[in-house]
Amino acid sequence: MNELRYNPLLGTWVMVATQRQNRPHMDEDRCPFCPSSGNIKNYEILKYDNDFPALMPNPPEIKKIKSKLYKNEKSYGKCEVILYSPDHKANLYELSINHIQKIIELWINRCKELSKNKKNKYIFVFENKGEEVGVTMLHPHGQIYAYPFVPLKLKIELDNAEKFHKKNKKCIICQMNEEEIKSGNRIIYENKSFIAYLPYFTDYPYGIFIVSKKHRPYLSDLDEFEKNDFADVLKVIEGSFDKIFNRSFPFMMCVHQCPVNTDEYKNFKKYYHLHIEFYTPLRAKDKIKYYASSESGAWAAANVALVEDKTNEFISSKLKYLASYDIEKFKEQFIYHFNKIHNKKNETTSIYKAPARINIIGEHIDYNGGYVLPVAIDLGCYTAIKKRKDNKIILSDINKKEIIILKINKKNRFNNKVIWSNYPAGVLNEFYKMGLKLKNGFDVLFFSDIPIGSGLSSSAAFTVSFAYALNSLNGFNLNKKEIALLCKQAENNFVGVKCGIMDQFASSLSERNYAILLNCNNLDYEKIPFELGDYKIVVIDSNKKRQLFESKYNERLKECKIALKLLNKKIKAKDLCSITPIEFEKNKNLIKDKIILKRAKHAIYENERVKKAVLALKNKDLIKLGRLLNQSQLSLKENYEVTGFELDTLYEISIKQKGCIGSRMTGAGFGGCTINLVHKDFIYDFKKNVLYEYKKRVGLYPDFYLCKAEQGVEKI
Ligand SMILES: [Zn+2]
Ligand SMILES: [Zn+2]
Ligand SMILES: [Zn+2]
Repeated sequence: MNELRYNPLLGTWVMVATQRQNRPHMDEDRCPFCPSSGNIKNYEILKYDNDFPALMPNPPEIKKIKSKLYKNEKSYGKCEVILYSPDHKANLYELSINHIQKIIELWINRCKELSKNKKNKYIFVFENKGEEVGVTMLHPHGQIYAYPFVPLKLKIELDNAEKFHKKNKKCIICQMNEEEIKSGNRIIYENKSFIAYLPYFTDYPYGIFIVSKKHRPYLSDLDEFEKNDFADVLKVIEGSFDKIFNRSFPFMMCVHQCPVNTDEYKNFKKYYHLHIEFYTPLRAKDKIKYYASSESGAWAAANVALVEDKTNEFISSKLKYLASYDIEKFKEQFIYHFNKIHNKKNETTSIYKAPARINIIGEHIDYNGGYVLPVAIDLGCYTAIKKRKDNKIILSDINKKEIIILKINKKNRFNNKVIWSNYPAGVLNEFYKMGLKLKNGFDVLFFSDIPIGSGLSSSAAFTVSFAYALNSLNGFNLNKKEIALLCKQAENNFVGVKCGIMDQFASSLSERNYAILLNCNNLDYEKIPFELGDYKIVVIDSNKKRQLFESKYNERLKECKIALKLLNKKIKAKDLCSITPIEFEKNKNLIKDKIILKRAKHAIYENERVKKAVLALKNKDLIKLGRLLNQSQLSLKENYEVTGFELDTLYEISIKQKGCIGSRMTGAGFGGCTINLVHKDFIYDFKKNVLYEYKKRVGLYPDFYLCKAEQGVEKI
């Protein structure tokens, strides 16, 4: 059954299309839009006529209803699918600007073609993304509907635009742009031709608009330069969406342009213009904002968030996306925000990055004289810094509201209200203590894409990036080892965090494609080539925030001391990790307490595993490395008891997956992250399956980070 039925209460049409109920749920293994299915020839971008259209150029005959009130019509129109890429797993923002521009060109061509049919009154380009908005086909695609009427929402917008124009002689969309630029605090991104903002009135927490800066009534009015800019803004905004919650972000993308072939409106090209509206049904990572009674039944929207607050979150997501996809553009945008916050005009500014780290193996033995094997990863903390003429230090952070003002060459006091500011303040104090005096003040903007409280050492990256920036700006000539030590002091003395040296050391001294074998006692270290061939490190954040961490940490410290004292009745060892497994097995009867025995066993064998892991890396024996990771995990669970339900479950799920040859928690435990050695061909399925299983069993939504061995702190 296919027909249009008129809703006399709203004065618009409903498309009745009963065969749509039978749409199959697409099996991912046999996607009809993958060229490999044999269903479709190879393509770059493709227009495909919808198999189950609600509207069609040759609609079936209908039986006209006889009524005073009701009426029906044939389903004239067209429903098309636009396939963005032959790659089933691609996201639009992963495609090149050139490729996206071709998609836009296809949209334009289709709009032109469909407008030729005088029965079509409105051409609607849109994309539904994600299962939350009912998408059954995961292959990247958008759609085009040609309606034989102007849909109601567009009609309302056009009516209001007409009214506004009558009164003000101005296009309502042009006016909206002006007001958003003037207020400035809802703008997410702009290039020469487009501006993206969360409009003042938007009814979704992330309901962003992308608007043409020039008055362009139709998509087809865009010139070559504007098409390129349109591709750019789409790429940046869609990329940012997926960084908001670190998951594929569902949305409805709706292109609003002028109607066609209609005499309902006169002069509409003067008062209405092209813009893209996003409808985003998530309000939290796994919480849907429903279009419920008030919204659906009364059209009275309630936005649960203040757009001005969401703007910062969105900007942060934008920088996260750019930092991972396009570092040059990241720099440009980071400086743009630096200039905006510090009231500068187009000035160049230096940017420094200090990375997060994972520890490959050697857990909980840094305080037992053992070795650790950290690797710096792609996530990091960025510091943009520029000298001032006066003696003020002005600190700002993309993710924070507060601006902190300090003075140079003065000892800072602990700030109870703005905790984050104590990290840079602590660093400044350490420079001051060393007698390294500053000549000028400076402006700073921080940005970090390292999740906090996940054990990836976000705080070490924070202090190291700032200390290194300060050192470079003022020509203090501290080396990277001295920077690491200074930052450890800042955290220990000022912020009041008990931490070892590993984090600062890794963030400062790491080198691309190398792990660092570090002796935590004397800071001797060796660079170990970190080459994984076809394997990749997948970091999974359990999203269980670390708890009880400090008390348990102190407890383990004490237990290890007792173990050492007992073993030293026969052995004279400086620390637990100086004892070999053979010595331990010979003398373990000295320890009667089973728990103390287990703690000692972990420390001594874990240190041995670090040495074996180094050998495995040198021999490129990844299977062996994977096995050592698993052994470490099991020892941390059984002997050291620092894993917990979430990390244990994550391990159990991960290690069962095809292509995963090793997995273990990294960091102090009791929540935080695991690292996983996964073959590159299986990463997509690995992530999908672990996500599904972990969510089901634990109820938390894990985050995934694909990592390679990165450079320590550097100017970028
Ligand atoms: Zn496909
Ligand atoms: Zn306009
Ligand atoms: Zn609109």
